[in-house]
Amino acid sequence: CGIVGYTGKRAAMPVLISGLKKLEYRGYDSAGVALASNEEIFIRKQSGKVSGLSELIEQDEQLSRLNQAKSGIAHTRWATHGPPTTDNAHPHQGPKRKIALVHNGIIENHNALRDRLKAEGNSFSSQTDSEVLAHLIEHHYNGEDLLGAVTAALKEVEGTFGITCMAVDRPGVLIVARRGSPIVIGLGKDETIIASDASAIITHTRQAIYLDDDDIARIEGSQVDIRSLGAGTVTRTPAEIDWSP
Ligand code: GLU
Repeated sequence: CGIVGYTGKRAAMPVLISGLKKLEYRGYDSAGVALASNEEIFIRKQSGKVSGLSELIEQDEQLSRLNQAKSGIAHTRWATHGPPTTDNAHPHQGPKRKIALVHNGIIENHNALRDRLKAEGNSFSSQTDSEVLAHLIEHHYNGEDLLGAVTAALKEVEGTFGITCMAVDRPGVLIVARRGSPIVIGLGKDETIIASDASAIITHTRQAIYLDDDDIARIEGSQVDIRSLGAGTVTRTPAEIDWSP
């Protein structure tokens, strides 16, 4: 339902939580964040409100490490596959916990992909279609080329997606892509704020790129490289966000 991502020089957590709160008006049943800090991905998620998630994080034993993270991804879920439980909340990870993913939309061929991955030995911790995509991305990830891994995974997928993905050994790098589910890239100074809806971006910047269907982008700090899933580099002109709250 709602996606927020941050990469830059500031602490990611407050940007992610305030962004999720801006997206609450769209409705959701669960919320979660993933933060990259000191060669680990920390995931905190639960069913219920963003305020509940933020209280949980305030009491977290690892709070100081969570607050050090300069990049992260976050999600509010509107369940389509699997009930609104904590296990089914996003972000989702691969079995080796090398990547984390938030996903809006529906992976139509999730059953066939899950069966294939199970035959390769993967076991799943949620009932979602989204976790299947997380496993598929990790299956393609060689520890170096996250953009290539996400591209390869998305070529096997049928359905709709707006996604943001991060890898444990590439903190600061976010991969975003869309097909039928919006992704807006907010261009800041030394930072980028990603969201599924411009309302989560406007407090930070009004300059934004709206991805087209089948666009995929690699983002690190203020550096944004956009390609097409089918071909090579594409040029998308930034636009001023037109939004009056
Ligand atoms: N299909 C996914 C799920 O059920 C994503 C739902 C959403 O867009 O929030 O987890």
